Amino acid sequence: MIPKINFIEAKSVFTKSGLPGADWVINPYNGCLFACMYCYAAQIARWKHPDEEWGTYVDVKINAPEILKKELERLHKKLNTKKFGTVFFSSVTDPYVGIETKYRLTRKCLEVLAEFRYEGNISIQTKSPLVTNDIDVLKKLKDVTVGFTITSLDDKISRFLEVRAPSISSRLEALDKLNKSGIKTYAFIGPILPHFINNDEKINDLLDKLQKVGVKEVWFEHINLSPKIKSRLYEYLKKEDSKLITDFENSDTQEYRDNLEKIIKKAMQGRGMKMGLGKVIYHKTLPKKK
Ligand code: SF4
Repeated sequence: MIPKINFIEAKSVFTKSGLPGADWVINPYNGCLFACMYCYAAQIARWKHPDEEWGTYVDVKINAPEILKKELERLHKKLNTKKFGTVFFSSVTDPYVGIETKYRLTRKCLEVLAEFRYEGNISIQTKSPLVTNDIDVLKKLKDVTVGFTITSLDDKISRFLEVRAPSISSRLEALDKLNKSGIKTYAFIGPILPHFINNDEKINDLLDKLQKVGVKEVWFEHINLSPKIKSRLYEYLKKEDSKLITDFENSDTQEYRDNLEKIIKKAMQGRGMKMGLGKVIYHKTLPKKK
């Protein structure tokens, strides 16, 4: 597949966020080549590309760092503070989608925030180890957290549903590197895929692995598919392995969720890790801490 890369001039990149846990959101790109089959951004970003398949295009906001700088200065003048709330990278893309190696817009936006001396929390959520290339910039930020989405320990499952995202093993290595560099991290286990049902062994294996790479905070999110996302996913499953549709259907009940929560809470006991358990809709939202 040859991705379609569009270059656009953004009018704004520091956008007020409606997501719980994030006051502002920065999307240096729009669209994501990782093409995850459960991706909610596929629906949110769709209005700009109604006829294109999610995962085949990216809009590159070539002026993102310059616009960000202006927006931060404007807000600083207006609010007389350098702390406007939590800033989240990103809601309609992965901020470290592969082409970041070429355009480095996420890096440049982080540099702008560092030069501005932004005082609020900056939260980055990704599936890509490319974020480790920016450890030098991350260290200059006052309050930054990097989260990795980890939905399984099995690279085959990941490859199947997170079609072109970096392997789980490379994400775990990146978490290790970030933790060893003193960057705060978390793991986002969401959506919790149906293979975890009634399986405390799988949950425990995953948590063991996360602890081994130094993760101290874990967020869980139940699978919660909107009708459009469900139809995209089910179309794919029908072609690839239709019995999986039953697994997804069976996981969409309150009883399933209650049971899963019991397993998760038990598995978390005694680990000394912070936990968030959400039923939020958006896959990259940080649910409110309990
Ligand atoms: S990495 Fe995130 S934004 Fe990109 S396709 Fe996957 S779920 Fe969507």
